[in-house]
Amino acid sequence: MKTKVLMTKHGRKFHAKNDEDMHTQYGFVKKEDLRNSKEGDLLKSNTGREFFVFTPLFIDLYRKIKRDAQIIPLKDIGAIIAETGINRESRILDAGSGSGALACFLASIARDVTTYEIREDFIEIVKANIEFLGLKNITIKNINIYDKIDDKDMDVAILDLPEPWNALESCSKALKPGGFLVSYSPSVPQVADFANAVRKNESFVYIKTVEIIEREWEVEERKVRPKSTGIGHSGFLSFARKVKA
Ligand code: SAH
Repeated sequence: MKTKVLMTKHGRKFHAKNDEDMHTQYGFVKKEDLRNSKEGDLLKSNTGREFFVFTPLFIDLYRKIKRDAQIIPLKDIGAIIAETGINRESRILDAGSGSGALACFLASIARDVTTYEIREDFIEIVKANIEFLGLKNITIKNINIYDKIDDKDMDVAILDLPEPWNALESCSKALKPGGFLVSYSPSVPQVADFANAVRKNESFVYIKTVEIIEREWEVEERKVRPKSTGIGHSGFLSFARKVKA
């Protein structure tokens, strides 16, 4: 379905359907005004509030996907892409799919993504999100990643699982030599068990574990300071490389 983004001068965003009035707490914008609008037009609600109108980019739609399982935050997705150099040539393995947030984001920049999920109810959410975003390069497999898998020649495998160390054999078979294995875990014992298992496994070289901390700042005239709310913990990212054929 086609939507438009309406954005206030303060950056508040609303998604309007093309054929319906858009109701907001700042009044409503008539569907005729939406239909007749051009990209970048300034529309007025019935109460006189102004909104810029434009067609959503991928990130506008991505922020609206369905979420059930805890999705990985953008700051951590950014670090995964930067550290592993994921690009349009990359073939990615992802487990578990959860809501498919990471799989969908990576599919928007990579060649293809194969995502593993054991729960069928989550797979339905992933399918809905893939369709909503119009992605064509994701394969969903309803298979336990801890079991034998048949993917090969992957560039990057990303694990967001309770026991990522149990997926080392699968990832070792699926990754090409030089490929990256990334594990995203919220807690310290998971990081320890994963890194120790990687170090003991001769197919991999352990590289590093990082925590990405993002601090948003308030910038209002000369009141420029860190926001008083915001920093919470998401997860640790551990990076390894597959080395042995
Ligand atoms: N990265 C995802 C969230 C993953 S949540 C996102 O961004 O949306 C973790 C998911 O792993 C859950 O949906 C869970 O059902 C799935 N899972 C747990 N163990 C699994 C396994 N052994 N094989 C495949 N999926 C598994």
